[in-house]
Amino acid sequence: MTLDEHAEELASDLGVDKEEVKEDLANLVNYSVPMDEAKQSLRRKYGDGGEGGTTPSSKDIAEISASDSNVTVTARVLTVGQRSIQYQGDEQVIFEGELADETGTISYTAWEDFGLAAGDTITAGNAGVREWDGRPELNLGESTSIERSDDPLDVPYEIGGDAELATLAPGDRGINVEVQVLEVEEKTIDGRNGETDILSGVFGDESTRLPFTDWDPHAEIEAGASIRIEDVFVREFRGAPSINVSEFSAVTPLDRTVSATENAQRMPIREAVDSGGLFDVELTGNIIEVRDGSGLIERCPECGRVVQNGQCRSHGTVDAVDDLRTKAILDDGSGTVTVVLDDELTADVYGGDLADATEHARDAMDKEVVAERIADRIVGLEYVVRGSLSVDEYGANLDATSFEASDDDPAERARTLLAEVEP
Ligand SMILES: [Zn+2]
Repeated sequence: MTLDEHAEELASDLGVDKEEVKEDLANLVNYSVPMDEAKQSLRRKYGDGGEGGTTPSSKDIAEISASDSNVTVTARVLTVGQRSIQYQGDEQVIFEGELADETGTISYTAWEDFGLAAGDTITAGNAGVREWDGRPELNLGESTSIERSDDPLDVPYEIGGDAELATLAPGDRGINVEVQVLEVEEKTIDGRNGETDILSGVFGDESTRLPFTDWDPHAEIEAGASIRIEDVFVREFRGAPSINVSEFSAVTPLDRTVSATENAQRMPIREAVDSGGLFDVELTGNIIEVRDGSGLIERCPECGRVVQNGQCRSHGTVDAVDDLRTKAILDDGSGTVTVVLDDELTADVYGGDLADATEHARDAMDKEVVAERIADRIVGLEYVVRGSLSVDEYGANLDATSFEASDDDPAERARTLLAEVEP
């Protein structure tokens, strides 16, 4: 945390002006007072003064806004995830998840171990409010009091964090999944504390498949195993959700086999793009255009980037290597994505390999003939494309693992798709 963030947290806890707190904090820290002590002393200074020293008002979750400095909330704990973070150069264990009441849900971070468990009904007194990603979140810290109630609060939300893979999104925490390990490999990375072994691979369940990383390798995560993992969190990796298993995750073998789906999720293009990214999705539409940078292209031998006239953005003049690639726009009426075909899939649609393409270009004395032939073959036709979808400020790209001409009757397919998406 930076000085600014400390000041913000303190100001929000105490309900006083941030600039004032920041100035005091900066002074103390300049006199080499450790941050924790400096904050304690400011808590004493402002402790009774903040907003008249009254307990913050009780609020329904739906009423909490980022402009509240602190609130008192009675809520049911939906999920509890444990995570280790770097805090002032030290590792600190924090607890995070979601709370709910009848009116809504809110994310929280607990900086101390209050012993929270999913299903608990609590009253969090003097919880700090901060804004994260445009939404209010609760900070439960040393000035927060937690009272438990034996009378469970009824909430219209699932308690406990059990979830299917297809419902997961980056930011989810304290989640439990039951999966089959479809792929797993050991890797050595340069971590916080030097070289670390991790596991990475792919999990599957009945709903979809997702990539994972296990930062603290669990022996139960082996190829083919059906397992339950409690307390995972979800991050974005290459534009799609990815499961993170940590030292706090509990992995237990299941005595049933989780049947991982062979199929990708199918949905209209607009829905897929709106989801922000999907690891394994199948989209169907018409190819309406083959984009520039398709066909016979040149790559930098160092970084693999596509180069123009032998000039790499990072490596200057390079001895570029030839490659095949296709970038084509797929449109299903609801939206468009750019489908990216690798060398093999491009060879399929071109009808020849790299050697054929180079010869073709040499004979014509024009590289563009390769992209032109690809366009002749695929533009205007309908394709079923499976792959990994990433969405960023440059657009939506579907990295294809398969690209098949659709032989369905479009009307029939529309009916099937509607039947699948309607509950
Ligand atoms: Zn390069």
